[in-house]
Amino acid sequence: MDVIEKIEQIQRRCEDLRLAGKILALVPTMGFFHEGHLELMRVAKRNADAVIISIFVNPTQFGPSEDFAAYPRDMEGDLAKAKNVGVDIAFTPSVKEMYPEGFQTTVSLGNLTNHLCGLSRPGHFQGVTTVVAKLFNIAKPHLAVFGQKDFQQLTVITKMVKDLNMDIQVVGMPTYREPDGLAMSSRNTYLSGAERKSALALKKSLDLASGMYDRGERDAARIKAAVEETILSHPHTEIDYVTVCDPVTLEDVETLTGETLIALAVRVGKTRLIDNCLLGSDSK
Ligand code: AMP
Repeated sequence: MDVIEKIEQIQRRCEDLRLAGKILALVPTMGFFHEGHLELMRVAKRNADAVIISIFVNPTQFGPSEDFAAYPRDMEGDLAKAKNVGVDIAFTPSVKEMYPEGFQTTVSLGNLTNHLCGLSRPGHFQGVTTVVAKLFNIAKPHLAVFGQKDFQQLTVITKMVKDLNMDIQVVGMPTYREPDGLAMSSRNTYLSGAERKSALALKKSLDLASGMYDRGERDAARIKAAVEETILSHPHTEIDYVTVCDPVTLEDVETLTGETLIALAVRVGKTRLIDNCLLGSDSK
């Protein structure tokens, strides 16, 4: 596996692969790999001739009071795991390489980012779309793989690709979970033992919503109230949002008619966790 820090170098390497007729897949990440990340890489591997990952803790998607400095990092461990999965190229740029002095161009979306995490993390999605657009221009992949755990991120990137006519297939993969149901996240490492137990509130509340739906409940307010009650019955939890919405527009719904997204963000102690599920589809 090649480890490349410089943009010019990886652009040349990717261009050579494309000219040789290879299909390229990109998996953008912020590192500190868990099985969820590795699963995205495996899917990329199955669907492309060459897999490129990026490991970059992107400062522009963190708010001033968020955890950019504290975000867990383990470059050596990550590179070993990626190599083991069969990744061909790891792109590991510095902040200066990605944002040299005088950098001033951004990519931002309209309405899609005025929902869910966009409301509690102003500027977050502009940071995400700008860095992902840069990574797409750097690697020029044929496909890019993202996780549905960050459902809004996947929706926003899919829309950016469509609106800006980027010739890239965006692939969304189901959330990978710990055996007890907790969605894998690099931020789980922040949780104390007691908080780790309380963090199960997220999946439990989604399962409750799913059960209500299966029994015929279609009223969004009643489902939301039950989800909130379940979360708050666990100690150390504080709800950022619980939303019952359309999975494409992310607009709130009052009645569940078609496929519906239940998305939540919960603070467990100081750690902000997100999770979601789709109701009314095969991929609950
Ligand atoms: P991150 O490093 O947290 O920015 O995540 C990099 C990619 O991995 C994103 O596309 C995430 O949606 C995806 N991802 C993170 N956690 C999971 C998970 N538990 N299951 C599947 N994909 C995940």
